[in-house]
Amino acid sequence: MRLDVVTIFPEYLEPLNVSLVGKARARGQLDVRVHDLRQWTHDKHHTVDDTPYGGGPGMVMKPEPWGEALDAVLASGEGAPVIVVPTPSGVPFTQQLAVELSTKPWLVFTPARYEGIDRRVIEEYGDRVDVREVSIGDYVLAGGEAPVLVMVEAVARLLPGVLGNAASHQDDSFAPGPMADLLEGPVYTKPPEWRDRTIPEVLLSGHHGKIARWRRDQAFRRTVRNRPDLIERADPAAFDKHDRAI
Ligand code: SAM
Repeated sequence: MRLDVVTIFPEYLEPLNVSLVGKARARGQLDVRVHDLRQWTHDKHHTVDDTPYGGGPGMVMKPEPWGEALDAVLASGEGAPVIVVPTPSGVPFTQQLAVELSTKPWLVFTPARYEGIDRRVIEEYGDRVDVREVSIGDYVLAGGEAPVLVMVEAVARLLPGVLGNAASHQDDSFAPGPMADLLEGPVYTKPPEWRDRTIPEVLLSGHHGKIARWRRDQAFRRTVRNRPDLIERADPAAFDKHDRAI
């Protein structure tokens, strides 16, 4: 998969060199290219923002550098990428969207600063390629670089061969399937006793059916406690199907 990021803070994307994403890059599974938006400015001060039409506080990112940057990035590859525009006013970034994006060969991210990018840029590229405006949560950050790190990590770990054990993301909270609306329950490792705290007996039983049922019950309890909204939208028939399978 190829990933391009256009930003005024290329150094903010340095974490893409470490851990899972860094290793995927080193193995050639991910081709990540970070571009400095200011290279597509032509004035002495490399200006990327201006005052908003209609007045109001804050600055807006100018369309010209973004247009030149995106033209250059789009012309540098085969086919059409999906352009992901981080914005608090976008659709929520969910595991389902991460799964969908992980099937695309090429993603271009456009993290903004100030009050965001001149609307005409989104319209211009929306007429040419698939443009997604995406929010990572109901809060406002100073810029889109942290959302890009979040989205890239969520997508990259779903790519074939990136996680050591491919099955590990299939049991995650929100993973598509019958348990998609349940959070993952608690997890334990050795030693069996730590500070007088033991682990639930059932996990030592070796009985796969009982363990799966216990995990499902724990997941259900945790979801009721932490995310009642998920339980409300959950399909009870899907839980039944899951239980019949174990
Ligand atoms: N005025 C904008 C609004 O209220 O929707 C907020 C702009 S914010 C200060 C600057 C940039 O940070 C956004 O254009 C976007 O790139 C990024 N950003 C901030 N919060 C975000 C979020 N929750 N999800 C995705 N991107 C976000």
